[in-house]
Order: sequence, then structure tokens, then C-alpha cells
Amino acid sequence: MAKKYQNFINGRWCDAIDGETFENRNPADRDDLIGIFPKSNKKDVDEAVKAAREAFKEWRLVPAPQRGQIMKKIGDLMVQRKEQIAREMTREMGKVFTETMGDTQEGIDTAYYADGESRRFFAPSVPSELPNKVAMTTRQPMGVAGVICPWNFPMAIPTWKIFPALTCGNAVVFKPASDVPATGTALVEILLDGGVPPKAINLVHGTGSTVGSPLVEHPDVDVISFTGSSVVGRKIAEACGRDLKRISLELGGKNGQIVMDDANLELAIDGALWGAFGTTGQRCTATSRLIVQEDVHDQFVDMLLERTKKLKLGYGNNEGVDVGPVINEGQRKIIHNYVQIGQKEGARMLCGGQYATDGDLAKGYFYKPTIFTDVTSEMCIAQEEIFGPVVVVIKVKSFDEAISVLNDTAYGLSSSVYTNDVNRAFRAMRDIEAGITYINGPTIGAEAHLPFGGVKDTGNGHREGGWTAYEIFSEWKTLYVDFSGKLQRAQIDNQ
Ligand code: NAP
Ligand code: MG
Repeated sequence: MAKKYQNFINGRWCDAIDGETFENRNPADRDDLIGIFPKSNKKDVDEAVKAAREAFKEWRLVPAPQRGQIMKKIGDLMVQRKEQIAREMTREMGKVFTETMGDTQEGIDTAYYADGESRRFFAPSVPSELPNKVAMTTRQPMGVAGVICPWNFPMAIPTWKIFPALTCGNAVVFKPASDVPATGTALVEILLDGGVPPKAINLVHGTGSTVGSPLVEHPDVDVISFTGSSVVGRKIAEACGRDLKRISLELGGKNGQIVMDDANLELAIDGALWGAFGTTGQRCTATSRLIVQEDVHDQFVDMLLERTKKLKLGYGNNEGVDVGPVINEGQRKIIHNYVQIGQKEGARMLCGGQYATDGDLAKGYFYKPTIFTDVTSEMCIAQEEIFGPVVVVIKVKSFDEAISVLNDTAYGLSSSVYTNDVNRAFRAMRDIEAGITYINGPTIGAEAHLPFGGVKDTGNGHREGGWTAYEIFSEWKTLYVDFSGKLQRAQIDNQ
């Protein structure tokens, strides 16, 4: 019998009001049924928002450092349950066990950071222009936060949103991606065991259209934090724009790694392999373009091909596996479609380009790591986010051309430059259009306490991670206290 999971709404575990359900299976083995989950709709969302609004009345008045103590306890519980969470996460979404351990560690770091931040919440006081008057600021919670997450970081991304939202004093309605509902459930269990008031965290399972949309459109939700594709992000932004609702968007990427002729090539290969094929290429920060200077191009490509051929595909909970499956059959078809487009566009495919079906791999959604060379920047495979184990190599003549190719994309999330020339490194840091630039490191590897996000179509100007996440979930309030005992008029009395 498959395990039956529930929503958590209004302080209790419950089925979807209409009683519908959906299945969740292991992408490395379709026969492995993880569980049956409630397929919720607007009615469930309405209940969840109502409960969150109720909880907000008291939660907002709890001193922030006390909320921080709960975050500390949550971090401790995550440490205790780390391996169990990671094993189930690998089973649920496919990336290898060391990576799901890392995903969980990011949640732990985010919890402990939240505890620290709860004692800071710095808000400047500045002098008033008038005598016997004080001017200061404070940070207020917003109310109900709607949190909508993708499946590729099933623990880290929800914690990036939920921990700051709760620490700021908001109540939360959380919709995990329907590909990873079990990890979402494990997180909510930890929040409750850590002492978050039950009605302040509500979990509603279901799809983007049946749960995500009603949450976005609910008039009593004050802020939406969304991570996912740019296509969906745009739709959500339109809906929130109509209601003047605050929204934070973390969207797609088409991240590039530049390799210059003066780079340490071994290091650049290590970075490229990890960046392109880690998490089976399904990271928003995945390296999907390698921009290589012509003098080292052929050598770099030979080394990359040799190392790529050695990557072992398989179930991520098994020892020695480098690359897991892709998330589902729909995504595998999209990846394969891009590969066919690349071939039609005239790019040269060096390896991969096929479903991997040997032995046990036939049970899951595996795709062979794929490298294209002879790619030019205007090709579709150099422009669109593929979100799978496919990397394109673009040959460039100079450093200036490398930067202009890197910037030639609608997205602007992560970027990387391998060079030993300090002048090139600093020019890259200044001139690359991206939210994140790594020097001599791959495009992936964000740390939880630094701002995370991108420019152009990657987002709308917010940054998660670190102190900037707290800006998303709080409102500034400005306070003036006049103790002069008379009417004082700013800009008038002082002319
Ligand atoms: P997605 O299809 O946009 O879905 C993201 C989430 O939104 C899921 O929970 C989805 O629900 C929900 N959703 C879908 N349509 C919706 C709608 N109309 N209204 C409200 N919610 C809706 O993205 P994905 O395929 O899960 O994730 C991959 C994408 O996320 C890539 O583009 C990747 O670059 C991006 N990403 C960005 C970051 C970043 O920080 N910049 C991090 C990770 C991933 P269901 O899936 O359950 O239907
Ligand atoms: Mg699944």
C-alpha cells in the first residue's frame, strides 16, 4: 500500500476538500510509488489563507528573537533528520545523494542565519530636521505570504522563502511543486516540531493551475514569493500587478562559463562538468554555455568529452552514481526536442543526444549527458533554457567577444570566468550582466547567506538569500515622535 499524505491546513492534517488525489513516483524507477497526495483546489487554498490570516494576529506580536529561537530548533531538527530527508529527496526527484545532502544543508544554514537575523533587523534612526523631534524606522511583517516553489531544490528553496517570511512575523501558505510533495511535507513536519504555531504554516498540495493560481489571486495574500520558469513568472506578475501585490520572482537562466587562454584548464573542466551535469543540468544556475577562447578550444573540448563519457548514470541513492534521471517524461521530451533542434541548426553533437535505457536505466527518465560544439550565439540551443544535461560550446576570438557572447541572452542569473589575468577578472566582474559572477569557480555554488537572484528575464529585482530575503517579507514603517509640544511643520518652518 502506498503511503497516503495530507495537506496541513488550519492546524490539522487533512485531505483535499473535494477528496481528489495524485500519485508521486520515483523518476529513477517508475515502479516505485512514493505516495498518494491530495490534489487540492481553490477551496483548500481559501481555508489555508483564512487560517494564516488568523494566525498572523498573534504571530506578528511575538518578539523576533523568540521567532529566531524556533528557527534555531528547526535547524537542529534538520541536522538530526538530514540523511533521512536526503535519501527521500533523491528518491523523489532524482539528484544524487551528496547533492540532496547539500540541498538539506542549505536549509540548515538558512535556519541558523534566520536565528541570527532575528536579533538584527537593522532599521536606521536619523536626525529630524526639526527640534525636539525624533525620526526613526522599523520593519513590520506584511501578513500572509504565499510561497510557490519548483522541484529542483525541494528543501533549500522553500527554506529560503519560508524561514525569512516566518522570522519577519508573517504567516505562510506553502505550495510545493507537485513533483516533490513528500519533501515539502517533511519540511512542514519540522516547522511544526520546531514550534511554529500550527496555523501560521499551511501546506497545500496540488498543481500550479489548481493551487498556485488561486493562491496568487487571493485578495488576502499580501506577498507572493515565486521561484520557477520565466513563462509562469510573467503570468504571476501580471496577476499580482492587477492587485498591487508585492511579488518576488526568481526565474530561469542561460548561464555561461568563459574559459580564457590563460586559464587553468583542469580547473575549468572540473567546473564545467559540475556546472553542466550536476543535478542532471536541472539547476537554475546550471552551466549551459561554455564560451571558450579559440587557442584553447580544441584541447578544452577533448578534455571535456573524455571526462563526460566517464560519468555514471543511475539511481542517486546508489554508490558511485554521478548523474541521476531528469524529473519526468515531459521534461525528458523537452530536452530531446532541443537536442533535435540543435542538430537541425547545424551544431555538432559530440556525445549523448539520446535517452539512456541500458539495464535498470530503462525504468526511469534518464538522458545521456550531451555536448554540442560549433554553436553560435544566435542558435536556439544557445538562447533558450534547456534545463537538462546538455551543454553547448561557443568558440570566441577574444575576451571582449567572450563577454559580449555571455551577455547575449535574455537571462541574467549566474556567470563564471576562468582566467589568471587579474585585469580580465575585474573587467568581467564589472561588465557581465548577471546577478552572480564567479571567478575561477563554476556557475553553481551559491552560499545561503549571500544575495541570490538575477537581472533581465531572471527576475524582478529582488534577491533571496542572506539579509536581502528579509526585505521581501517586511515593510518599512517610518515613525516621527514630536515632543516639542507645538505644531512644527517640515519644509515650512525651516525655509
Ligand atoms: P515552473 O513550471 O514555473 O513551476 C514552478 C512552480 O510554480 C511549481 O510549483 C508549479 O506547480 C507552479 N506553477 C505553475 N504554473 C503556475 C501558475 N500559473 N500559477 C502559480 N503557480 C504555478 O518551473 P519548474 O519546471 O518547476 O522549475 C524549473 C524552472 O525554475 C526553470 O526555469 C528554472 O530556471 C527555474 N528556477 C529558478 C531558480 C532561481 O532561483 N532563479 C531556482 C530554481 C529553478 P506544479 O509544477 O506543481 O504544477
Ligand atoms: Mg515524482
